[in-house]
Amino acid sequence: MLNAPQASRSTMAVPLLDLKAQYAALREEMLRAVVGVLESQDLTNGKPVRELERRIAADHGCRAAVGVSSGTDALLCSLMALEIGTGSEVITTPFTFFATAGSIWRAGARPVFVDIEPDTFNLDASRLAGVITDRTKAILPVHLYGQMADMEAILNVAKPRGLAVIEDAAQAIGASYKGHPAGTLGTAGSLSFYPTKNLGGLGDGGMILTQDEKLAERMRVLLNHGQSSEYHHAWVGGNFRLDSIQAAGLLVKLDHLAHWTARRQENARRYDELLAPCDAIVRPVVRAGNVSVFNWYVIRAPRRDAMKAFLAAAGIGTKIYYPLSLHQQPCFASLGYRPGDFPQSERAAAEVLALPVHPELTEAQLEYVAAKVREFYAGR
Ligand SMILES: *Cc1c(COP(=O)(O)O)cnc(C)c1O
Repeated sequence: MLNAPQASRSTMAVPLLDLKAQYAALREEMLRAVVGVLESQDLTNGKPVRELERRIAADHGCRAAVGVSSGTDALLCSLMALEIGTGSEVITTPFTFFATAGSIWRAGARPVFVDIEPDTFNLDASRLAGVITDRTKAILPVHLYGQMADMEAILNVAKPRGLAVIEDAAQAIGASYKGHPAGTLGTAGSLSFYPTKNLGGLGDGGMILTQDEKLAERMRVLLNHGQSSEYHHAWVGGNFRLDSIQAAGLLVKLDHLAHWTARRQENARRYDELLAPCDAIVRPVVRAGNVSVFNWYVIRAPRRDAMKAFLAAAGIGTKIYYPLSLHQQPCFASLGYRPGDFPQSERAAAEVLALPVHPELTEAQLEYVAAKVREFYAGR
């Protein structure tokens, strides 16, 4: 019999995320940053945006970083800058947040899915060659839950064929693959500052990383309606500008990111220890050469929905990322995919559950979550 910590006898509130706790610790600094922007009235794409770009580019050893309005717009702007649109195909994973494939579609291109690896939940690079056509323009891997996809294998397919690689690193800021930071190995890499990401803003925001300064220049034009000089438009772009207030808030938080990431990694290690005796579940697998930043700690759980309800009754917040594979979304019906086309992705959608792993999680909360997970499976 496993000995459950005492806390498991009564319920304890464990939110999936605790943004209020994060804010409480940074309150004074955040208020100063926000007031600074208000005083300057330099409201969009202003000085704090330049400073954030400079810092993030430097942290990533990247030649350029381009602040944009969201992670979604980072993907869309990257595709537009690479002139990937009507008539093009972009290969991606069906097991990701909607924005990945939605951006391909909105650029006018066709999302082409390949199934995922069952252990990492990331795009299975061994399947890429089988779906490449003369219309293929890019591969768009996602670094899901904070762990990078197998970039070497992906680049080995892309490079000889002249395909662009756009990394969706929305969940993976600070992660690395064989020492290379997420977002820096492809033609472009996109980051999101949505509040649930490891570096979350005061609302929406995103950034594009690239080693190609010419491409970055084009992105800077596209993010402001393709305006090459005032009211002269070389291309049709969009409004993908990042607000100064977002950048100012993010600059405050950026100083804490390394510490928060270390806390997430430590929480994941503790879960690994405490959940090791629970044979029923599958814990996250981090590949050799990868450093995961654990945007989510995702287990595979038999009788997942019952387990989620059991944890909810115990006061524990969990979430399913993602319950429906993108090839099964009604809006993509015209792509012609059918249930069963991507069995690994469909199976993951039925089994995954994200446990609270955020940096503010206390040891008592973590032990309580682990005890409840074990309790659910004990004797079943
Ligand atoms: C969050 C997320 C996005 C979109 O980012 P937003 O900033 O919310 O637009 C794209 N892809 C993945 C994998 C994400 O998790």
